[in-house]
Amino acid sequence: MNKLIIIGSGPAGLTAAIYASRGELKPLLFAGSKSGGQLMTTTKVENFPGFPKGVLGPKLMVDMITQAKNFGTEILNEDVTKVDFTGTEKKIYVGEKEYSSKAVIIATGASSRKLGIESEAKFWGKGVSTCATCDGAFYRDKIVAVIGGGDSAAEESGFLTKFASKVYLVVRKNVLKASKIMAERVLANPKIEVMYNSEVKSVLGGEVVKGLKIFNSQTNKESELVVDGMFLAIGHIPNTKFLKGQVDIDELGFIKVQEGLHTQTSVDGVFVAGDVHDHRYRQAITAAGMGCMAAIDAERWLNKN
Ligand code: NDP
Repeated sequence: MNKLIIIGSGPAGLTAAIYASRGELKPLLFAGSKSGGQLMTTTKVENFPGFPKGVLGPKLMVDMITQAKNFGTEILNEDVTKVDFTGTEKKIYVGEKEYSSKAVIIATGASSRKLGIESEAKFWGKGVSTCATCDGAFYRDKIVAVIGGGDSAAEESGFLTKFASKVYLVVRKNVLKASKIMAERVLANPKIEVMYNSEVKSVLGGEVVKGLKIFNSQTNKESELVVDGMFLAIGHIPNTKFLKGQVDIDELGFIKVQEGLHTQTSVDGVFVAGDVHDHRYRQAITAAGMGCMAAIDAERWLNKN
């Protein structure tokens, strides 16, 4: 039986692995078939401390994987399909294959909800982004569109006005879903223009984004909007499918921590880190920080038990 199994290979899972393997827990980490998490699909990361010139997302993740392996983490590029946390021995399944562990850290992240249109995938990382905090600075004096009407869209559009000369907020309904205070901030910002009843039909451009084809559901008309970038803020889907009710989740589907128990979930010895729990900050550095916390909590729990 393993002492510790870590599920997930983004900054949270890999930081947990670096700490746990340095602590000689010899963790087994399930990296998933697409290892490295969300940063594998980004270009330059300029806000991860320690890289004054920025670092490419995939390079940062490959370096974290190497660092975890150097201290003795065993990494399997497999997708966990099922877990059974009912006994003191926690069971992790990859198809029919069973693994067991005393403690578990879940760090499977969340996936940004996408529009699902073909051109969105084509321009991914070439003007289409899901993170204003990460990519906003690339749009200084440019025109961008933020898609969505919730708090994230409100926050991201406000943030982008620091750089962009104009921000269109493209909302599919005729109202903003965002909380009153956030919506009021958007409406009071002279750089933001809200486009209600508007749906993105396609992303236009050659090498990079040049515009959007927008359908107005009230007028039934299509028009072209000239923009240099599109930021999606239409929600996140936490990656918890394989858990099937084994740990408590909140009303939005994110894994809950027990009050006063830091990174501990509703199951004794099962810890959580990163975006699968945290939908407020969603940064590589905050996920990494929580990965460190979960590893320390797991180590202390193992010592005690
Ligand atoms: P939400 O689910 O609250 O909002 C998603 C928005 O995207 C809605 O306006 C929704 O439209 C729209 N949307 C969904 N799918 C599509 C689609 N296919 N095409 C176009 N639009 C679409 O997600 P958020 O990420 O905004 O917020 C998640 C949680 O995090 C919330 O509880 C929020 O309050 C919280 N949060 C808090 C912040 C803060 O307090 N500072 C900052 C950010 C988030 P529709 O309205 O039509 O459903």
